[in-house]
Amino acid sequence: MRTIGRRQFLESGTAGAAGLWLGACSDVVGPGDSPGRLGAGGRPKRVVVVGAGVSGLVAAYELGRAGHDVTVFEARSRIGGRVLTLRHPFQPGHLAEAGAARIRPEHELLLGYADHFGLQLDSFYPRSGEFLLFEGGHRSPLPGDTFRQQRPDYVKIRGGSELLPRAFADRLGRSVLVGAPVAEIAVSGATVTVRFSAGAVLEADRVLVTAPVPVLGRIRFLPGLSEGKTAAIQGAFHYQKATRVFLRFGGRYWEAEGLNGWAITDWPEELWHPTWDSDGPEGVLLTYVRGERATELDALDEPSRVARVLEHLDDVFPGASAHFISGTSHSWQHDEWSRAAWAEPTGTQDLELGGELARAEGPVHFCGEHASGYRGWMEGALESGLRAAREIHDA
Ligand SMILES: Cc1cc2nc3c(=O)[nH]c(=O)nc-3n(C[C@H](O)[C@H](O)[C@H](O)COP(=O)(O)OP(=O)(O)OC[C@H]3O[C@@H](n4cnc5c(N)ncnc54)[C@H](O)[C@@H]3O)c2cc1C
Repeated sequence: MRTIGRRQFLESGTAGAAGLWLGACSDVVGPGDSPGRLGAGGRPKRVVVVGAGVSGLVAAYELGRAGHDVTVFEARSRIGGRVLTLRHPFQPGHLAEAGAARIRPEHELLLGYADHFGLQLDSFYPRSGEFLLFEGGHRSPLPGDTFRQQRPDYVKIRGGSELLPRAFADRLGRSVLVGAPVAEIAVSGATVTVRFSAGAVLEADRVLVTAPVPVLGRIRFLPGLSEGKTAAIQGAFHYQKATRVFLRFGGRYWEAEGLNGWAITDWPEELWHPTWDSDGPEGVLLTYVRGERATELDALDEPSRVARVLEHLDDVFPGASAHFISGTSHSWQHDEWSRAAWAEPTGTQDLELGGELARAEGPVHFCGEHASGYRGWMEGALESGLRAAREIHDA
């Protein structure tokens, strides 16, 4: 992966564009072949992928292995998109997920790629301790042990969800550039010209756009996008809001009561203890709120957001303030390259725009969890990335 500064990027602009086509990703060494390996296809193409989230990376990986000349441009200074593993400000070795965390047993593509890259999986939920229900100011055991009984096979990637995007990016090597926002995509005949915010331009045969709908409008398309995609960009395709606030504690004081640090409350929220299977003595608790509660927390500055959640935790797990060390948060609404958590259209919106968002417009293709049949999960991002990779491969 390369980080490219503005000056360096300008210098590698039109004149040096060929130098960016470092192409060739290394072939895989893994226990099995990948679930999305492409078969024999047409002539090799120059492909630009916009976005190094899971959907863009899986597409780039499979297209590169199939012989295409692929370059991935990522606006942020990091890869992963809505997969973001936080390691600070926590005890060394502790981590918590700001985005994707859980994997369900039916996520075959994800489990297949985890196997392919040799990633280890662990149980997501703890096997011991009591889960709590906090409702109307009262604490009680969570009825029927909701998490353990309904989600017994949920797993997570050992070492953090970011190991999945990193596995793709490591193999793509210098074909992935970060800090490179795409500003314009212009189609002229069979050629697509991609223009970057820093001013550089690049020509390609095919472009794959993975930007989530709330930030898709930051790219200028020439000619303009279809009526349906434009309507979605203007707000006709609903996205969920989600914010997580992380609190670091000097000890796992809740264990003295036989609790494991996990709870459902009527705030409403899910409370997680992501360090349940890591060594102590410290522990991290996170609150996971959506919708209006997320909007409420987003309106506060960072210290006030942490203070608000700490005050609330003092009710759910009394003693929080006494053991609190520090806190942090992540709002996906405030994240400039997401602006929301995941696509959650109404039935009508899905019917009218769902298919349209996945439809290619000439040599410009589209994917991302929003353009999949499995929204809100990495599985959907993989599914859509592979669908788009096949389109480009077969074109
Ligand atoms: C709070 C939260 C919890 C979640 N929990 C889970 C979970 O437990 N399990 C699970 O499987 N999934 C979960 N998900 C969903 C999962 O994270 C997403 O479905 C998946 O990561 C989306 O991948 P993507 O490639 O479609 O989009 P993204 O990850 O958003 O990638 C798109 C990329 O495009 C880049 N980009 C945008 N515009 C431009 C531009 N103009 N130029 C260049 N680059 C650009 C962005 O920076 C981004 O990196 C969760 C998501 C959130 C937010």
